[in-house]
Amino acid sequence: MLSNSIATRDIQSQIHPQTNLDQHEKCGPVVMASGDGSIVTDINGKSYIEGMSGLWCTSLGLKDDRLAKAAARQFDTLPYYQNFAHRGTEPAIDLAAKLLEISPVPMSKVLFQSSGSEANDTAVKLIWYHFAAQGRPEKRKIISRERGYHGTSIASASITGLPHLHTDWRLPLDGFLKVTCPHFYREGRPGESEEAFSTRLAQEIEDLILAEGPDTVAAFFAEPAMGTGGVVLPPAGYFEKVQAVLDKYDVLMVADEVITAFGRTGAWWGSQTFGLKPDLITCAKALTAAYVPLSAVLISEPIYQTMLAQSRKIGVFGHGYTYGAHPVACAVANETLRIYDEDGVIDGVAALGERMESVLAPLRDHPLVGEVRGVGLMWGIEIVSDKDSRAPFLAEEGVPAKIQDAAFRLGLVCRALGNAIALAPPLIVTPEQIDEIGRIMNEAIKEVKAGL
Ligand code: PMP
Repeated sequence: MLSNSIATRDIQSQIHPQTNLDQHEKCGPVVMASGDGSIVTDINGKSYIEGMSGLWCTSLGLKDDRLAKAAARQFDTLPYYQNFAHRGTEPAIDLAAKLLEISPVPMSKVLFQSSGSEANDTAVKLIWYHFAAQGRPEKRKIISRERGYHGTSIASASITGLPHLHTDWRLPLDGFLKVTCPHFYREGRPGESEEAFSTRLAQEIEDLILAEGPDTVAAFFAEPAMGTGGVVLPPAGYFEKVQAVLDKYDVLMVADEVITAFGRTGAWWGSQTFGLKPDLITCAKALTAAYVPLSAVLISEPIYQTMLAQSRKIGVFGHGYTYGAHPVACAVANETLRIYDEDGVIDGVAALGERMESVLAPLRDHPLVGEVRGVGLMWGIEIVSDKDSRAPFLAEEGVPAKIQDAAFRLGLVCRALGNAIALAPPLIVTPEQIDEIGRIMNEAIKEVKAGL
């Protein structure tokens, strides 16, 4: 590997996020060179089915000329302009209007950033601003779920419920509280129904709000379906019961739709699939099909009204990023949303999801597979050492990572996340590619089992 000059240059020069840096010095990078639809090809000419859409984001695959042309047109006319201080661009205006039109619940305004982390940071700040402006500055604690993923900036990592984003960073910040992950397979008690599990988790949230003091709790952040936590779907009745608790104590609901927005669950929004009624929505990734970075926060009318009242009182709204509402990103997003509409991409997800279910269902019989779960085009395969007790393998055995690596050698990108293997192919994956995903997963799991 080290004789390869690209690998050497990489090791000598670059830090890879979410990577074991010591291992990286030994194994070096896999360098990708080109893409076409759901296929990605490395510099050695080996091709893989991109079964994770990159990081859950390349919804339209890796070669849609319409997006490249939309970007090129905007580069030619106006490659950059800011929207600070009463300035703006037409692509951003069009996109904001479109997002409000398709929003799953009525929303009042849109604020753009570049990443999911920035969108969630912005949401936290809007919540703090909202309650402070109402004369309730102590109402600022944020509740989220263990295993939830919301980003890696300081606030968004604090909302995230994964230990490796906290240890050694002295995070979460004070006032970022966690409740149980709604993972029925792992957290449900023997004999407990999904509904009863949801009731128990909603009660836990209510108990926490009461223990902390409702006047100190501002918001609850949730992914409609958890991605990075291992593809965890909400159990029956969960969001309805949680929402009732939040409403009772005037705690805002933030739907982190960074993965779920724009078709991933089979509807335009995960909030539609799972019945969330958010006060703020954050989205990114498939907003531009990942061709360029862009994220957005959708803001409810009551929150906008406090922002407006603050501006009347104190002046400018003191928040924003240089590249928020970047016109090239907004132009690509407008084209992406047009393609979703005109090509019926999102309507097609249900049938593709059924095909995923049918090719992954046989894995349930495998001794290493505890559960296969999913919705639309996000699926998780729970890996266990013992089916009856549901015991996972020890972390140091690295069995899910071995399955991920075996699948990769066989030509499929999937991702080991905790005890689960995640699959989230592009929304334009073909039925034949889904069949191939099923075949490779089966082979990879068998291969790893044989080597144990
Ligand atoms: N929220 C969710 C649900 C995510 O999955 C991610 C990224 N995987 C983020 C937020 C953070 O987005 P970014 O990496 O663009 O900051």
